[in-house]
Amino acid sequence: MPNTAITKLQPYFEKMSRLKQLLSILNFDVETKAPAKGMEKENDLIAFYSAEYARIAKDREFIALVKEAEELGGLNDAEALNIEDLLDEIHLMEKLPIETYIEWEKDTSKCIEMWRKAKRASDWSMVKPYFEKLVANKKKEAVLLAKPGQKTLYDAFLSTYEKGQLESDIDAVFGPLKEFLIANLPAVLERQSKIHFKPLDDHPKHEQEDLAYDALKAIDYELDRGALGEVEHPFSDNIARDDCRVTTHYHIDDWRCSLYSILHEGGHAIQFQNWSDYEFDNHVDGRASAALCETHSRFYENLIGRSKEFASILLPICQKDLGGELKNMDVDDFYHLVNKVERSLVRTEADEYTYCLHIILRYELERDLINGKLSIDELPAEWNAKYKEYLGIEVPSDAKGILQDVHWFQGSFGYFPSYALGNLYGAQIMAKMKEELDVSRLMSKGNLAPIKAWLRRKDFAYDYLDPKDWITKVTGKAMDPNYFISYIKEKFLG
Ligand SMILES: [Zn+2]
Repeated sequence: MPNTAITKLQPYFEKMSRLKQLLSILNFDVETKAPAKGMEKENDLIAFYSAEYARIAKDREFIALVKEAEELGGLNDAEALNIEDLLDEIHLMEKLPIETYIEWEKDTSKCIEMWRKAKRASDWSMVKPYFEKLVANKKKEAVLLAKPGQKTLYDAFLSTYEKGQLESDIDAVFGPLKEFLIANLPAVLERQSKIHFKPLDDHPKHEQEDLAYDALKAIDYELDRGALGEVEHPFSDNIARDDCRVTTHYHIDDWRCSLYSILHEGGHAIQFQNWSDYEFDNHVDGRASAALCETHSRFYENLIGRSKEFASILLPICQKDLGGELKNMDVDDFYHLVNKVERSLVRTEADEYTYCLHIILRYELERDLINGKLSIDELPAEWNAKYKEYLGIEVPSDAKGILQDVHWFQGSFGYFPSYALGNLYGAQIMAKMKEELDVSRLMSKGNLAPIKAWLRRKDFAYDYLDPKDWITKVTGKAMDPNYFISYIKEKFLG
């Protein structure tokens, strides 16, 4: 017998998905095209519709139906997870007055706006008072989110992105990974010092935009179900079933930044474009954990995009769109150029080897900040000290240091680990895929369709599951960081 409460919930689900779509479009507009002077009104609009969305979770009939759906039982696995998430939201909103919710949303929008200005001016002090307010709000929110079994305030945030994960789980994985990466960095750089890297030419925006579109085509992103925008901090968004957009940022003096940003965001959007009808029909599209999303972005960016095999596909595209120094380049030179390991400052531009170190240090800082072991006053100096210790580099400015990422300034504490976890899951999935497909041959032919089909069938179809259940479903095994460590070892030290 069908669960009657689920049937009665459908109009609410429709309204929620419409509001989510609207908020995503507003957010895309704010990030890409909205005029500076129109920003305040548009942020106000976002706060208004966010509150409208939040009001649903406070609607008495809705709450009663969600509770009834759980009690009636007989739910399929997607419905059960959806109801579980809704009960979490309801419990939070039961404890949080709507006025406070609206105030927190406004504080967050203001902090993001001030971060943008502070980053441009490279001046941490401009955003600091707004950040203090935001962190104070977030600590109150963590108390409300906390669940039995969680041991720290940070655990409450982590589980909003990675269901069921505790900071102790992350420490257990990141500890050995950090040790391996720091210990072997000198050897990787020494090995690389024998390679001659061709210097890069400047390439104007219009050339790089052509390259962005061609790269999206090369990885089978469906342009007629998406769009490409230009932003300060690249992102992608699953606005609707047939509207999955990507963005990038063009650096005139380094075409690699936008190319790999596009492959990253394109990877996200390929996942969004390939969710199953089952996921949409049961309203679990978009439920995938942050690490699951970062798995697929980094899969296309690195495991495919930075492979020797796919270099032979990317090089002619770059030669056609950019010309210049690429004209006489061979595949080996290109491969080395897009895999150059550096003691660098900026996470989004970091190479595949050092990337996890950028993440691990952010994770350690946000964990200690939220748990009260590190103050906001100490944060910038601690950031700089960790860059010196882990990557051996001095941080010259706030813009290239603590202000480089938006995450903290939009209150997304607990998100950073997802990027590194995505690398680990991705390597494990690639190993499984290679048992069933000749991945090397497909990449060297530029024929990524079978890879996408495999992901669609065996991976995306289950990515609404909690991370531990999903990785076991996809690969038949629990998460094992050694797949990534072996991959990195072979690629950079083999
Ligand atoms: Zn991403």
